[in-house]
Amino acid sequence: MTGRSAEIVDSEICVVGGGPAGLSAALAARRAGAQVVLLDLFDRPGGQYFMQPPHPVSGLAAAQVGQGRALIGKVRDSGVVIRSGVEVFGADGAGTLLARQGERALVVRAKALVLATGAHERTSPFPGWTLPGVMNPGAAQRLVKMHGITPGKRVVLAGCGPFLLVVAAQLHHAGCEVVRVVEASPSPLRLAATLLRFPSRWAEAAGLLRAVAPLWSRFRFGRVVAEAMGEGHVNRVRFAFLDGEGRLGADDPETIDDIDALLVGYGFRPSVEIATLLGCSLRHDWNAGGHHVAIDEASGATSVPGVFAAGEITGVAGAYPALAGGARAGAAAARFVGRPAGHSPPSYAGRADRFAKALRRAFRVPYAALGQLPDAETLLCRCEEVRATDVAAALQDGGCDAHGVKMWTRAGMGLCQGRICGFGLSVYAAQRAGLDPASFGANAARFPARPAPLDILAEATAAAIAAPQGNLADESRGGLSGSASRD
Ligand SMILES: Cc1cc2nc3c(=O)[nH]c(=O)nc-3n(C[C@H](O)[C@H](O)[C@H](O)COP(=O)(O)OP(=O)(O)OC[C@H]3O[C@@H](n4cnc5c(N)ncnc54)[C@H](O)[C@@H]3O)c2cc1C
Repeated sequence: MTGRSAEIVDSEICVVGGGPAGLSAALAARRAGAQVVLLDLFDRPGGQYFMQPPHPVSGLAAAQVGQGRALIGKVRDSGVVIRSGVEVFGADGAGTLLARQGERALVVRAKALVLATGAHERTSPFPGWTLPGVMNPGAAQRLVKMHGITPGKRVVLAGCGPFLLVVAAQLHHAGCEVVRVVEASPSPLRLAATLLRFPSRWAEAAGLLRAVAPLWSRFRFGRVVAEAMGEGHVNRVRFAFLDGEGRLGADDPETIDDIDALLVGYGFRPSVEIATLLGCSLRHDWNAGGHHVAIDEASGATSVPGVFAAGEITGVAGAYPALAGGARAGAAAARFVGRPAGHSPPSYAGRADRFAKALRRAFRVPYAALGQLPDAETLLCRCEEVRATDVAAALQDGGCDAHGVKMWTRAGMGLCQGRICGFGLSVYAAQRAGLDPASFGANAARFPARPAPLDILAEATAAAIAAPQGNLADESRGGLSGSASRD
């Protein structure tokens, strides 16, 4: 222990996550008269869709940045206390959150929580995936958007979903040579058919398609990355075709050499760690990104009284459903703390949900093929250095679900708590053991859900034990025990 003490923050409502869902929830709750503090991991609010670069941006991202800036301005003006750079790593069922802001421990006590922690990229292992230069498309996007740095000159993008188009356009705009865009879906026709059904999205889609038009001849469909190669850094990639069943087919004879970066992503997975620590029930739906927080659609209420959730954490659907879900959850959280909100959901909510569902059907993730990709030596869990052969042995010895394999091998027990490896483990184990990947289960994150130095853990835990009151369970207080503090 350092002798420092944790900062205690009391607020009626605490929103975790400053993306579209969290911002919208905070605004709705504040407009209903509730006192609101919003915590966000990043240096600036906005989350993924409304990411706020420190410099002017042009191209596709400009409109999103502007829209986000306007929303953040409204949230600040409404009196919501926004605390950026705050990473929540612990939570108890009574509504106390343990967090860090730089070198300082933080304990946040609220009467209602809104979880809007978004999603992270769905990564799947293949031989060579740990080589430097292999990364997620979102990492490359962040490098370009926030820091003006490209991941390299010659770049290959691969995976599944419309996000590949977005990143391809952004990298092209930033001056990269996008050599190939390899999409697992069999053809662009499904995307075209989906778009035709939603005229309200034609302008947005036209903008994106215009931005990727110069790259159209570089697109290939119905295949996946089979192997990344290089000495100390990726410089070569080969692909495999998918068969009609979504399993690995023949090798694609084409290999691509002299690349600087290989960006591979298969869509997004809900970031459910904090919700799991709080005991919120999860549901599974591959089309919604896998395990996500189960909510009452009308209010965003989770299975834990006083805990609400919105946005991608409740199922991957995109920014507009996240905004609508945030408004519903924020208003419901305000009602929960006794601040009745005259709230009506934004009119685009139903349409946005339908569009998101149609897009998910258009871009099906090839689970079976991804489970076939690792060879015996491929690392499935990078934090604990667990290879495919170790997981295969655990399955043979009787490990029959995510928890069993974790106990046998430590896979999913490291710093990422399964965020990076969870998906790859389940698809690999499923194809080895002939299971449905969903029935393999998910590794529940344990405290601390995110890495934190021991002194911060100790300070936050000691402060939470010393001052446990002031949260969901304590309805008798009826008012505030303190005020949300500003930096
Ligand atoms: C890497 C990535 C890039 C994306 N880029 C695009 C894009 O360009 N275009 C597009 O249409 N969609 C994009 N998406 C999809 C995007 O998730 C949604 O469109 C939209 O941003 C969802 O809003 P949200 O509020 O649910 O989540 P997000 O916008 O992801 O916001 C979640 C917020 O929660 C915070 N958070 C998470 N865990 C913690 C914690 N433990 N403590 C404190 N704060 C925490 C994060 O810092 C983040 O700011 C991207 C998704 C990802 C994962």
